[in-house]
Amino acid sequence: MYNSNAADAAANTEAGSRVFVYEVVGLRQNETTDQMGYPIRQSGSVYMRVPYNRMNQEMRRIARMGGKIVNIQLLTVDGNGNGKAPAVAPKQEAAKAAPQEQKKAENKGKPMTQAQPKPEKAKHADVPVNIYRPNAPFIGKCLSNEELVGEGGIGTVRHLIFDLSGSDLRYLEGQSIGIIPPGTDKKGKPEKIRLYSIASTRHGDKMDDKTVSLCVRQLEYKHPETGETVYGVCSTHLCHLEAGADVKITGPVGKEMLLPEDPNANIIMLATGTGIAPFRAYLWRMFKDEEKAANPDYQFKGFAWLIFGIPQTPNILYKQELEELQAKYPDNFRLTYAISREQKNAQGGKMYIQDRVAEQAAELWKLIQQENTHTYICGLKGMEGGIDEALAAEAAKSGIKWSDYQKEMKKAGRWHVETY
Ligand code: FAD
Repeated sequence: MYNSNAADAAANTEAGSRVFVYEVVGLRQNETTDQMGYPIRQSGSVYMRVPYNRMNQEMRRIARMGGKIVNIQLLTVDGNGNGKAPAVAPKQEAAKAAPQEQKKAENKGKPMTQAQPKPEKAKHADVPVNIYRPNAPFIGKCLSNEELVGEGGIGTVRHLIFDLSGSDLRYLEGQSIGIIPPGTDKKGKPEKIRLYSIASTRHGDKMDDKTVSLCVRQLEYKHPETGETVYGVCSTHLCHLEAGADVKITGPVGKEMLLPEDPNANIIMLATGTGIAPFRAYLWRMFKDEEKAANPDYQFKGFAWLIFGIPQTPNILYKQELEELQAKYPDNFRLTYAISREQKNAQGGKMYIQDRVAEQAAELWKLIQQENTHTYICGLKGMEGGIDEALAAEAAKSGIKWSDYQKEMKKAGRWHVETY
């Protein structure tokens, strides 16, 4: 499957100067296609020249206009250095060839990322990492900073959007970025980076590929000895950041929480608190991103199940968005809360995430055993223990040792944990 970030990454390299020809069907002749200067042929196909670094953008534009890309071919260069589009529509040419040759013809000239499906882990080679390092961060701008905790809720959690204009920073759903807070630490050294899971899709909340969003809880605790209230350095800095302020960004980092590219996969998401951040990105990619038109290469048809642990209703981060998605896609998205201070578990105690997992264990276990199911855990450190216990009890009913089974899932890249 084509990966837009790989295209962007290669834009400044020799490979990045390549030009491709898209064969597009389904475009209606109208003002826009006329302006684009692409005549629609009798066959119904339009051929478009697209530089490597604009492939993703063009794909989205084509999808928005109702078009479908049926073939991508590298533009060959003749002896004079001029681009030469394939004389015959590649598909027709390929159809004439013998089966083996046909396969070769179909693959010829496609970007590497369009090759045959590989195991999920092998695909991670295309993931952008450390584009900006701590010694040379990108200085972004805060575009907005909004409270996510409702009236009467506990603490402060903010949704922040940063402007990445002018940077090379790109990222995938499930990655994190680093933030360097201003000032110095107790030793007088510059503050170190803190990591934050990205809460937006690769296209950003504004769908222009120029922003990144975070979901940040202000760390606040009582000092164990003095009893004084202590506020975290970086989270406090971010939670109080004003629109227009500069922010030092590094990364992206992380390959643990990437979504499988298979649009038919089942995705189980177990979150506590700000652990919702990567899952918001997944859900936007699966269901939103301009109602999927931005992702012609990822039309989600699988089943996504989010179990979200929070202390009380006002702390359900992104509540409205989540419930809207559930109402709109009831067959593909299930939303289950574990609201510890308001709901009771089977024993009459508080309903924590592990209790909800225990309650739903039969169904979860059935799902987990399907080879196309990926499970993701994100949020508070330590939440994995109770989840393991609940699933171990269920697996034991079929005579399976959970720890062995889980090991195999990890090896297969189907079990993903990011807790902090
Ligand atoms: P600091 O000033 O660095 O203080 C933290 C220190 O305070 C701790 O090291 C500990 O010594 C002490 N401390 C903390 N709690 C207590 C306590 N109860 N009692 C005593 N001492 C305590 N955070 C988010 O809000 N959203 C995210 O999406 C997110 N994603 C993350 C992803 C990853 C991969 C990782 C590793 C972390 C993530 N974090 C996230 C956490 C984030 O990186 C910071 O650790 C957090 O914001 C606190 O940083 P700070 O600078 O505010 O706190």
